[in-house]
Amino acid sequence: MTFDTFLMVDWSGGNDRGPTPKKDAIWVCAARGGLADEPVYMRNRQVAEDWIFEFLKTEKAAGRRVLAGFDFAFGYPAGFGSALIDSDDPFALWQWITDRIEDSPKANNRFDVAGAINAHFGGIGPFWGNGLGRDIAHLPRKGLDRRDHGMREKRAAEERAKGAFPVWQLSGAGAVGSQVLMGLPTLNRLRQAFLPDLAVWPFEPLDKPIAIVEIWPSLIAKAVAATVPAGRIKDAHQVLLLAQALSALPSDQLSQLLDVAPTSEGSILGLGHEAMLAEAASTQLAPPPLKNDCFAMPQGAHWTPVAEAQEHLRAHLRCVVAKEVLSLNQASGRVLAQDVLAQRAHPPAPNSAVDGYGFAGPAPNGVNRFALVDGRSAAGDPFNGDVPSGYAIRILTGANLPRGVDTVVLQEDVSTNGHEISFHGPLKRGANARAAGEDMQHGQAILHAPRLVTPADTGMLAAAGIGEVTAYKRLRVGVLSTGDELREAGQVATAGQIYDANRPMLCAMTARWGYDVVDLGRAPDDRPTIKAILDDATTRCDVILTSGGASAGDEDHMSALLEGTGSLALWRIAMKPGRPLALGLWNNTPVFGLPGNPVAAMVCALIFAHPALRVMAGGTWAVPESYMLPAAFNKNKKEGRREYLRARYVDGQVEAFPSEGSGRVSGLSWATGLVELDDKARTVASGDLVRFIPFANYGL
Ligand code: AMP
Ligand code: MG
Repeated sequence: MTFDTFLMVDWSGGNDRGPTPKKDAIWVCAARGGLADEPVYMRNRQVAEDWIFEFLKTEKAAGRRVLAGFDFAFGYPAGFGSALIDSDDPFALWQWITDRIEDSPKANNRFDVAGAINAHFGGIGPFWGNGLGRDIAHLPRKGLDRRDHGMREKRAAEERAKGAFPVWQLSGAGAVGSQVLMGLPTLNRLRQAFLPDLAVWPFEPLDKPIAIVEIWPSLIAKAVAATVPAGRIKDAHQVLLLAQALSALPSDQLSQLLDVAPTSEGSILGLGHEAMLAEAASTQLAPPPLKNDCFAMPQGAHWTPVAEAQEHLRAHLRCVVAKEVLSLNQASGRVLAQDVLAQRAHPPAPNSAVDGYGFAGPAPNGVNRFALVDGRSAAGDPFNGDVPSGYAIRILTGANLPRGVDTVVLQEDVSTNGHEISFHGPLKRGANARAAGEDMQHGQAILHAPRLVTPADTGMLAAAGIGEVTAYKRLRVGVLSTGDELREAGQVATAGQIYDANRPMLCAMTARWGYDVVDLGRAPDDRPTIKAILDDATTRCDVILTSGGASAGDEDHMSALLEGTGSLALWRIAMKPGRPLALGLWNNTPVFGLPGNPVAAMVCALIFAHPALRVMAGGTWAVPESYMLPAAFNKNKKEGRREYLRARYVDGQVEAFPSEGSGRVSGLSWATGLVELDDKARTVASGDLVRFIPFANYGL
C-alpha cells in the first residue's frame, strides 16, 4: 500500500483556542517521503475542517494519494449502532451524529446530544462527564453513577491500547468522548465531499486516492518525549513525528499496520506493531544532541596548534538541524540534505544553437543547395512536420529540430531567395545542433548532498525541472556580547565605556553565512543574568556565539558558567591574535566563547566558528581556498604559533596592516583578507610568497 502524502491531525473537542498556538487546540502536519512540513495550528474545528478540505483537494488535483490520520475513535463499542439507530453501519451512525451536533467556535451542544443518546438506553449512561454548570437530563457527572446501559466500556482497540480512554467519557483530563462527538461530523462531511474518491479504514478497502485512518499519537509517546524541541508544543511535535514516521515506512510495513480484521468499531493504526512504529519514529528524530564531552581536549602546559583544534572540532561536531522541503527559490544558500535527480533531460529535445536553416547533414565541400519547406521552427513553437531529404527549414535558436533535421547552417553563411538556400560546405553532421540530454540526462544526480546551493545551482536545478529540494533547516545562531564596559553604538558612552563592536560584526558575519541570526543583546558581567540569557537562548538557537569573558580571570563569567555544566573546554590555542576559546554546551546547545577583543573575535570566528557552523548546519568542513602571493611587507615571526595578519591584495601583491595591535578594529575593515603564517619561525621579506586568504573565501 503506498501513499504520497501523510496528513496527521490532533483533534480537539473544546471551543476556540485563540490565535496564538496553544496545546489542546488542533494541530495538523503533513509529510512526504519521511520529511514533514512545519505543524500548522488551527484555533478551532471550523478553521481545521476548511483547511483539511482544501489540502485534500490540492493533493487530489496533483494526483497524490493521501493517508489522513485523525486521533479519535471512528466508532463505538459493538452494539451501540444497532441499539441507537438499528444499524451497524458506522457511516449511518456518523450521519446520525452529524444531524444532531451543532458547532460554532464559541459553543456546541455535545453534552446535550450525549444526554439525548443516553435517553435511548435503559439504565444510566453510557455517556458521562457533563462538564457544564447546568444539569443535563440523562447525562451523569460521574462515571460511577452509570448502570445498566448495556454497552461495553471499551472498544476492542482500547482494550489493547494501554492508557487509552473509553469513548463514553466527555470531560476530565485525558477524556476523548467529546473529541469523537465533535470529530465524526467533520469526517462525515469530508467523506461526503470526496466520495467516491475516499475510503475509511478499517471499514472499507483503501483503494481510493484518499484514505482516512484512526491514529493514536500515544503509541509513539516515548519518541515524542525524547525529541520534542524546547519551545515546541508537544501536540505539534507528535503530529510531526507521526506524519514523518508513517511517510518513511516501507510500503510493506504500512500494509502490515493497515491489515486488521473487519470491525464496525474502528481500530487504531499501529496497534500490535508498536515497536515498528516507535522504530520508524525514532529514526526520524531530529539529530541527537551533541555529547557533553565533545569539546574536551587534552590540555597540558602546551598550547594547542590551530590545526589540532580545528581537527578536534571537525571530528566531534555534526549536523544539529532537521531537514525540510523547500521550494527552489528558497534553496539558495542552503545545504542539500538529499541528492537531486534531474526531473527531465536538458535540453529535453534536440534543438538549434543558432538562427539559421536546418537540414539532414553533413553538407559536403562546395556549394550546397536546399529547397525550403513551408513553415519554420521557433523556440516554443516547433515545426511538427517532416523535412524531406534535399529540403531545409528556417529554424531559430532554441527551436526543436524537426524530424529529418540534424544539422543547422548559420543564417549569416546562407544566401536565399525565399524558396531555396545555398551555402558553402563543408559542414559536419550535427553542426550548430544540441543533442537531447547533452547537458543533463533525465534521472541523473546533478547535485549531491551536502552541497551548499549556489545561485548557479539554482539555475541548473530550474533547467532540470526541479521545483523542490530537501535541505537542512537554517541554523539558528545566537550572538551575545558580555562585559560591563559595553554600550550600544549610537548611544551615549562615558570615557570608561566602549561600544559593543563584536555583536554587530558577528551578527553581520553569520547573516552572510546564510544562518538565522538571533541577536541575544549584551550581558553585564553578572552570572545570574548571563545564565538567564543563555537559558532563554537555548530555546531558540542551535548554537551560540559569545564574545568576552572567555578567559579564566575574575570577570570571565562565560567560562565560569560553562565550567559549571561540566562541559567547558578552555582551549589555549597557539595563534595570534587570540586568547583562550571557551567551548561548552549549555542545555545541549553548543556555545563558542570567542575572545572579547574584536580582532581576535573575528579571526577566531573565521578560523573556528565558520567551518564548525557549516558542519552543524549539515554541510562539510570548509577549508578556504588560499593563494600564494608575493608579500609587500617584511616580518619576523617566532616559532610555535600560527599568525594571522590583516591583509589586502593590491596590484599583484599582499599588503599587511601596519599595526598588529589587536585592538585596532579599523585594520579589519581596511583588510580584504588574512595572511596566514604557519607555526614555524619565519622571516618574510618583501617579494616572498605568503598565503593569502580573501575574506570572500570565508564566506564573507
Ligand atoms: P574580555 O575577553 O572580556 O576580557 O575582553 C577583552 C577586551 O575586549 C577588553 O578590552 C574588552 O573591553 C574588549 N571587548 C570585549 N567585548 C567587546 C565587544 N563586544 N566589543 C568591543 N570590545 C570588546
Ligand atoms: Mg569582559
